Amino acid sequence: EIEDVNQVLETRLDHTSSEISKLRQDLEDMKREAMTDALTGIANRKAFDLKLRDCAMQAMENGKKLSLLLIDIDYFKTFNDTHGHQAGDQVIRLMAQTLHQNVKGRDTAARYGGEEFAVILPNTGLGCARQLAEHIRRNIEHRTVVSRNSHQELGKVTVSIGVSTFEFGEPLGSFIERADKALYLAKAKGRNRVATERQIIKSSKTSPVSQTDIDKQRYA
Ligand code: GH3
Ligand code: MG
Ligand code: MG
Repeated sequence: EIEDVNQVLETRLDHTSSEISKLRQDLEDMKREAMTDALTGIANRKAFDLKLRDCAMQAMENGKKLSLLLIDIDYFKTFNDTHGHQAGDQVIRLMAQTLHQNVKGRDTAARYGGEEFAVILPNTGLGCARQLAEHIRRNIEHRTVVSRNSHQELGKVTVSIGVSTFEFGEPLGSFIERADKALYLAKAKGRNRVATERQIIKSSKTSPVSQTDIDKQRYA
């Protein structure tokens, strides 16, 4: 009798263990899904926020530089209006793919918002970050978008990129804001270009493009 009861208990235990490992697997899948952008498969905004915080803490611990790229597709509203939202989505996927191909190892590419992307670059100073941004900008400029449905060429798409470098101890909002301001300086200067935080400081002294003009463009 005892043997029989044991047998039943063992069977139940087996069943419960396999249920637990299935739940564990489901939880892992859901966690990954919560951090992934559904359209492009790269990191989403939530994953970006967590990663940036993590990288800033590491930078303060190891004293190494940390840089950030903010990337925005140029005249994307016009592209959507001309070719349709689906073709627009295809461009967003193409951007994510290009970033993914250009960003390796400890670097993180994320979809920051609708048609905006971000790249977190640990152990990277402003100069190297600017070079990578320029590389990405050129790579995208040389691609031609081909419609998946009609196989027709839809033309070229360009991006503008803003670059900033973390100042140890500063709020992450300021770090992001400098990349954002540099991005909108790149827009104001004609788009399809890279601007760094250094240019914002310079341009506020010398250029006719004032921060107010940039903000007007940003929030228009
Ligand atoms: P700018 O050069 O100043 O960035 O001009 P823009 O037209 O790209 O900028 P704006 O902010 O006016 O428009 C962004 C557009 O991006 C608006 C929206 O139609 C499009 N967009 C945002 N998210 C998505 C998306 O997930 N899919 C598609 N197809 N379009 C999107
Ligand atoms: Mg935008
Ligand atoms: Mg845009």
